[in-house]
Amino acid sequence: MKIVFLGVGEACDEYQPNNSHLVISETILLLDCGYTTPPQLWKYNPDPSFLDAIYITHRHADHYFGIPPLFVRLWEERRTKPLTIVCQKGLKGTIEELIEYGYRGLYERLTFPVEFLEIEEEREYRLNELTIKAAPTVHSVKNLAIRISDGRNTVCFSGDGRFNSRTEALYRGADLLIHEAYLIEGHHPNHACIMELADMAQRNGIGCLALTHLQRGIRRREIETIRAMIEKRGLNIIIPEALGEYTF
Ligand SMILES: [Zn+2]
Ligand SMILES: [Zn+2]
Repeated sequence: MKIVFLGVGEACDEYQPNNSHLVISETILLLDCGYTTPPQLWKYNPDPSFLDAIYITHRHADHYFGIPPLFVRLWEERRTKPLTIVCQKGLKGTIEELIEYGYRGLYERLTFPVEFLEIEEEREYRLNELTIKAAPTVHSVKNLAIRISDGRNTVCFSGDGRFNSRTEALYRGADLLIHEAYLIEGHHPNHACIMELADMAQRNGIGCLALTHLQRGIRRREIETIRAMIEKRGLNIIIPEALGEYTF
């Protein structure tokens, strides 16, 4: 398994593309597809048949408004391979509406079948060779963090939101946890902070913690301070750059 961090930014960062990542196993799975994600994907691999599936964590624009432009290009380039969209229950209708708002009539003209897998929290699902499971974070709208395993490696992705006992159980023992980290420390009602994440990763035996979705000012001005703090604690924590890779 290999991970490509397509973008690592929060919703309104002019320098960092939206938080979105590729899981590359036998199946190629895109994690979230915000409004600046498609160009990152096309830079990495422009082949219209490249993706097998997309997982959408929640209904925020920086996590799913990239679907209409992505679909337009797949249609223009005559993709025929089926595409699976994995999402929480009820999101199928929202995504279909979004595509219709973006490009009226496109959905009916698509050259490839779209299959939806609407998942419920804490049940296990199969996506080809991958096993997936989800749990809700604490966020302003329902967000399901996900755990993905190919039988050898396990990666978890928070989407947005603070962790809780249910997501801690989901993340436990993962080889890589990609977690949003909006603040360095202190309390935010809907987002996680780095200091708490470091403690959580340690007590749950996380192999590597990748911090993404940092608040734009913090990412710009305090990244060196954060790196120094991390180094002092001796934990395996990374702050990836856009298009950076992690190989297990
Ligand atoms: Zn976000
Ligand atoms: Zn959000």
